[in-house]
Amino acid sequence: MNSDNTNPYAVLFEPVEIGPVTARNRFYQVPHCTGAGRNYPTVGAHIRAVNAEGGWAVVSTEQCDIHHTADMRAQIRLWGEDDVPFHARMTELVHQHGALAACELVHNGSYSPNHIGREIPLAPISTPVQGPYPVHARAMNKVDIANFRQWHRRAARLAKQAGFDIVYVYAGHDITLLLEFLSPRINTRSDEYGGSVENRVRLFRECIEEVRDEVGETCAVAVRLAVDELLGEKGITSSGDGREIVEILAELPDLWDVNVSDWNNDSMTSRFAEEGYQEPYVAFVKSLTSKPVVGVGRFTSPDTMVSQVKRGILDFIGAARPAIADPFLPNKIEQGRQEDIRECIGCNICVSGNNLYTPMRCTQNPTRSEEWRRGWHPERIPPRETDDRVLVVGAGPAGLEAARAFGQRGCEVVLAERSRELGGRVSRETMLPGLATWARVRDWRIGQIDRMSNVTLYRDSDMTAEAVIETGCGIVALATGATWRRDGFGRTDRAVIPGAERPSVYTPDDIMDGVEPEGPVVLFDDDHYYMGGVIAERLRALGSDVTLVTPEPVVSAFTNYTLEQTRIQARLMEAGIRIVASHTLTGIEEKMVQVKCTYTGQTSNVECSSVVLVTALIANDDLYADLAQGDHARRIVRIGDCYAPGTIAAAVWSGHRFARAPFAEIEDQAPFAIERVALSAEARV
Ligand code: ADP
Ligand code: SF4
Repeated sequence: MNSDNTNPYAVLFEPVEIGPVTARNRFYQVPHCTGAGRNYPTVGAHIRAVNAEGGWAVVSTEQCDIHHTADMRAQIRLWGEDDVPFHARMTELVHQHGALAACELVHNGSYSPNHIGREIPLAPISTPVQGPYPVHARAMNKVDIANFRQWHRRAARLAKQAGFDIVYVYAGHDITLLLEFLSPRINTRSDEYGGSVENRVRLFRECIEEVRDEVGETCAVAVRLAVDELLGEKGITSSGDGREIVEILAELPDLWDVNVSDWNNDSMTSRFAEEGYQEPYVAFVKSLTSKPVVGVGRFTSPDTMVSQVKRGILDFIGAARPAIADPFLPNKIEQGRQEDIRECIGCNICVSGNNLYTPMRCTQNPTRSEEWRRGWHPERIPPRETDDRVLVVGAGPAGLEAARAFGQRGCEVVLAERSRELGGRVSRETMLPGLATWARVRDWRIGQIDRMSNVTLYRDSDMTAEAVIETGCGIVALATGATWRRDGFGRTDRAVIPGAERPSVYTPDDIMDGVEPEGPVVLFDDDHYYMGGVIAERLRALGSDVTLVTPEPVVSAFTNYTLEQTRIQARLMEAGIRIVASHTLTGIEEKMVQVKCTYTGQTSNVECSSVVLVTALIANDDLYADLAQGDHARRIVRIGDCYAPGTIAAAVWSGHRFARAPFAEIEDQAPFAIERVALSAEARV
């Protein structure tokens, strides 16, 4: 430990009391989903355990359902005794690494359509549930409120039984019953639970008091509160109701965990928000309470963290994504290894995992969710099992990660890159609007490789088949990437577009190479992730009149999963980009394109001078084809986009897997541990 007075980060390693428990330092992994939920419990437990091992003083669960009237499908739950062992697995592992375990109890109110159990959802008022589901929640009467309080008490007891040290009363985001009661917008009740702020706070207060009553002697009682909904006057604001709620309850909980609502605002991507972006909303809280305050803001810089503490904004550095990207962030700061921090890039690929009900993945940390099922540790990797030298061709995200991880195993590695610049697609894409932070994927890996004497890097090295063979390397990975298709073959029609061979037709690669197409430009986005949107922004910034055509009803449809879609659509609209949704591009002619409605099949023309096709990628596997002929073929594999184009996260993961298992074949049995649902003891007859 290096936390003497000369260490500029010593303040981050001071212990902090939270009611009856003490956190060993100021690093606090706030509640966040993992996508593991109740279906992959041991995957989830090991995610938390590795965070504890990496030095986080508090490690929290995601939201934990307390009752079947709010059954969030894949989330974890504490409905009864049977659920306790599930949580005990997590708390035991977390305790083994010296951290406190926190449980975030929740009733999701009208956010939960209860598709499984079919119970009618509950809310302060009669209201349609959130989302496009044909379900209404009913207004809670006094009996319901009394019952809810009992369920909440019971869940707190069960949490204590499961070994948690901190129990949360949760009114964050726009997805909890308690926030619905606090909200002036939603809670229009006329009884003592509605109307004035004191009345709206009543149920929240009762829950805090009752959790303390149940577990408060040995467990801390934390609250999570959205102090601003970013809805202006019609919502909770940090100068209005948010402030008043904190004033009223100031000393009641043992800890204030404060953020902004809804989740889209709380977990903004780096495309839309900088590190520390929540400070203006949460800064007031500490002036109203003597209890410790935790807040988030995608903190990865130790200097920013120290500044938050020293300026009296926060007592704890809260993190979800920075802890996902680097579970060992606290230990690295403590050991003076700042340059080893694998900083979150703010892409929200992790969030997409949860939104797709799958264990999350992370662009920066390929071991995330693989800790238990594949036995991958984020910092350790088994030493080499071979004396073979390793050649990696291509220094994009896949090649850099493969070379880095193989280097960490102690192998002699040669990394050959055709161009002067390293980083492949990452370097190219970070030049596009809003994506600069993504350069961290490249920079962290180069920083690691630079310090490895066993990894030799050759720039300006265009590798041919002969050159690959000449190296004599026993293990070869081709990480030569992929290229955007020029023929318009995409997801929707899966056919080339007539006229795509015209000289006025471009691809994202052309735009990233600096080509400036003559306007007006039609951009056809049949890829549906970020690329279509950012290329449209780039073209618009160059002064072109831009029309974005997409077969989906909204632009960049996949970004619904990364919480960015509405912001992207707004940004494009505000930039003056015309959006033609629910249309495919069916033909390109001189000075115009033909588009077709995906519902009616009706066609129309859009005039333009140029076309940019953002449809699909094709692997750069010519080198592989040349090498696949001879005897050496068995020691050559393709990784990353050269194997199958995908996300940067997938490329990094592919490079990492190659380093751990270079010649992994597709086997009959899954190469990862599986947790199967236990069959109930008997079937009903
Ligand atoms: P991935 O996402 O799979 O890492 P990228 O497209 O980002 O793929 O990176 C591929 C890298 O491979 C690029 O930097 C490219 O310059 C390099 N490359 C492609 N072909 C060769 C080759 N024959 N020899 C050396 N480098 C190559
Ligand atoms: Fe950060 Fe992206 Fe990893 Fe999420 S997936 S933790 S946003 S780098």
